[in-house]
Amino acid sequence: MIKQEQYFKPNYEESRAVFRSHLEKIQEKWPNASLSSEKIGNETEDNTIDVIYSDALESNQQVLFFTTGEHGIEGYAGAAVTHLFVEEYLDRIDPQTTGICLIHALNPWGMRNFRRVNENNVDLNRNYLYNPESVSKEVNENYAKAQELFLPNGKITDIIKEKTKLYSQLTSEIMEQSYNAISEAKGMGQYEFERGVYYGGLKEEESTQFLKTVQKKLLTTFSRVIHMDWHTALGPTNEITMVASETDTRAEEELKSRYPLKNIQKFSPDKVKGDSTNHFHKLKKEEHPDTYLFSALFEFGTFGEDREAERRTYTTIILENQLYWEGAEKEEDKQWVLDEFQAMFYPKEREWRDSVLTEAQKAFEAILKVEGILN
Ligand SMILES: [Zn+2]
Repeated sequence: MIKQEQYFKPNYEESRAVFRSHLEKIQEKWPNASLSSEKIGNETEDNTIDVIYSDALESNQQVLFFTTGEHGIEGYAGAAVTHLFVEEYLDRIDPQTTGICLIHALNPWGMRNFRRVNENNVDLNRNYLYNPESVSKEVNENYAKAQELFLPNGKITDIIKEKTKLYSQLTSEIMEQSYNAISEAKGMGQYEFERGVYYGGLKEEESTQFLKTVQKKLLTTFSRVIHMDWHTALGPTNEITMVASETDTRAEEELKSRYPLKNIQKFSPDKVKGDSTNHFHKLKKEEHPDTYLFSALFEFGTFGEDREAERRTYTTIILENQLYWEGAEKEEDKQWVLDEFQAMFYPKEREWRDSVLTEAQKAFEAILKVEGILN
């Protein structure tokens, strides 16, 4: 077993350097493979989306497409998975018929700063809307009613008190409304409070524009596109969960019988908005109906799935957002929030990191063999 330190990097710069070094290995199979870096955000900060790309050598029948770090901090696990794949799976791909497109850090600022959102506080996976005005009224209304819960409201002064207050707000019957509001906001985003959690943004972010261009290019160039979008936190602890787009026309049962993977879920149609894989499927349907597309999220579970885990999730998300905007009086409170956030999206535990590597291999076998990428 290769050492964990090799795969799980402590910061954005190191993770990106490792990714860039994959080019050499990939060129052994695809001699014309190239690395490109797209600058994102503030000119003074060196944040880039990095892409390694190659056409197939003979005919562009299919392409393997990985995206990582759409949610910043979640990109560390995605980079580990990409690294593992480059080390151990390339020999099972036929480069004559298969192209490759690997993306490191769709949200490089978030990855650098260990946040989930980008430099504009936007959850990028709620930013892929066809028409932002049309979808968000009801969500924004519920969100507004419960806004004291989601909007930063002063410095964190006493973490125990803040945490207890949030827990009881999320637990009590009276606050059922705010619980629903935050569940909805999680899935649909909210488009009114730019300092609030689950903000989807009012304009198309740079990263969104960039990924849309790549999606279009792949659908135009290849007959079949096989896409795995790597994330963390959702699903059973230490297991991988595939989350299929609502626009994937196959039912959950059908997906389960086709792909031999334990956890497979489907987004429910009216609960998720602005998702990037949904956009990919819509684009395929409307502009490239003859191209075959497989596109799904793959999540490595951390806190788990019960109601208690859900409360811990919301509490963590809310406190991290408050800390970012307002700060904390006590250093130990600040550290507590940051540790909890890391435990949710990039745990340090050996057991979790091992599970990322072993569960990723299950997904490679389950999806990429069935889809004809791996022989
Ligand atoms: Zn994510």
